[in-house]
Amino acid sequence: MTRTGIIGGGAAGLFAACFLKKNGASFTLLEKGTECGRKLLLTGHGRCNLTNRKPVSELVQGYHEASRFMKSALSSFTPEDVMTFVQNELKVPLKEEENNRIFPVSDKASDIRDALVKYIDSGNIKTDFEAVDIVKDGDKFRIRSKDKREITVDKVIVATGGKTFPVTGSDGKSYDMITGALGHKVTPLYPALTGIPVAGKDKEFTSSLSGVSVYAGAGLYLDNRKKNKTEGDVLFTHDGLSGPAITELARDIPSDVNAHDGWIELDFTPGRDETEVDKELLEQMRLHPDTKLTTLGSKYVPQSVSNAIGKRAGVTDIYSSDVTRDGRKEFVKNIKHLHMTIARQPKFETAYVTRGGADLSEIDRKTCGSKIMPGVYIIGEALDVDGISGGYNLQAAISEAYIAVRAIMC
Ligand SMILES: Cc1cc2nc3c(=O)[nH]c(=O)nc-3n(C[C@H](O)[C@H](O)[C@H](O)COP(=O)(O)OP(=O)(O)OC[C@H]3O[C@@H](n4cnc5c(N)ncnc54)[C@H](O)[C@@H]3O)c2cc1C
Repeated sequence: MTRTGIIGGGAAGLFAACFLKKNGASFTLLEKGTECGRKLLLTGHGRCNLTNRKPVSELVQGYHEASRFMKSALSSFTPEDVMTFVQNELKVPLKEEENNRIFPVSDKASDIRDALVKYIDSGNIKTDFEAVDIVKDGDKFRIRSKDKREITVDKVIVATGGKTFPVTGSDGKSYDMITGALGHKVTPLYPALTGIPVAGKDKEFTSSLSGVSVYAGAGLYLDNRKKNKTEGDVLFTHDGLSGPAITELARDIPSDVNAHDGWIELDFTPGRDETEVDKELLEQMRLHPDTKLTTLGSKYVPQSVSNAIGKRAGVTDIYSSDVTRDGRKEFVKNIKHLHMTIARQPKFETAYVTRGGADLSEIDRKTCGSKIMPGVYIIGEALDVDGISGGYNLQAAISEAYIAVRAIMC
């Protein structure tokens, strides 16, 4: 009987083990930590946003450059399939929340993790096994641990995760094994889905508004070139910007951002022309000469944000009748193009996912099999696949686990 070694007991490795178990296959799951699924426990703020029930044609758009690669895996094991498996096999009831996001009814990520481990059976799991090498030996593979233990298998699934939240075990060290032992290319790594720190006066601005959330358009600029843009909620924090519209931009910030002119531009009236907003504000000022400009500004942003913008534009506490043309123009400019200088690349320690990983040109997208070393499969965040937030990353890990196991069982 074919024996598979799965390296990494995160979401991808655990689901791969379940699929092998369901097929009655022989396998051992090797996890370097003392327990499996430590990152899984943190997902969805401890509630685990397991997947997203959008149709695959829509879901696939959430994987950036990897959309085409992901189509096969997502079509082979859809969000509906994930839900059926988790509810019928793992016996964890699920519920749907806004934006088609799926969570366990209990709101406990631990229910998913514990059910996965129970299904696999602890006899098939070796913890405290940090794989450092994979050696091809005839038609077998020898997986070696850091403390010189070894197991011999017929197939290998590499599910060692990315580089973010290293306390959970996925600290990026295993990319060395992917490049060294397997000879794969690894694309540059970036922290993704995380807040963006801003510098100097801009930090004072965001920190004074810490906790305030506003709907806005957000653009990421590097050396005067727009790299990406989003629209959604923006959250001001003690050291910068966060919220869904911002975290989606983090994946484009390079480690040497300080060598470039990098900034985020916020537009608090997306879809409206600057001249139109200016004209409207001018009319309001004419109608309400005894009202402060910043009070009128609350038509566009919360009062606290209008006050902070007023301070920046030099029109604090000035009544409409006394505001100069330049003062008004500066105020409107900050409503339409609030410029926030990026302080540095966000940290891997606090990012939710890693952009970059095993180069997809060397992976068969129908099986997640290595084109360089047949018999080896790479799945989950170890691959150069990162999705937007909303259950996309776990869905990717699970679908990839499914197609790898399907290929092994053939
Ligand atoms: C705070 C937070 C919240 C998140 N929330 C969500 C969410 O709600 N929904 C969603 O879809 N995604 C979410 N994500 C992203 C999601 O958790 C990951 O994309 C997913 O866990 C990736 O699964 P993985 O199995 O590839 O990697 P991981 O879950 O990181 O697992 C990799 C495992 O491999 C082990 N390992 C590493 N190297 C070795 C080695 N050499 N030998 C043996 N074992 C090794 C590690 O210890 C780890 O257990 C969140 C991430 C974070 C950090």
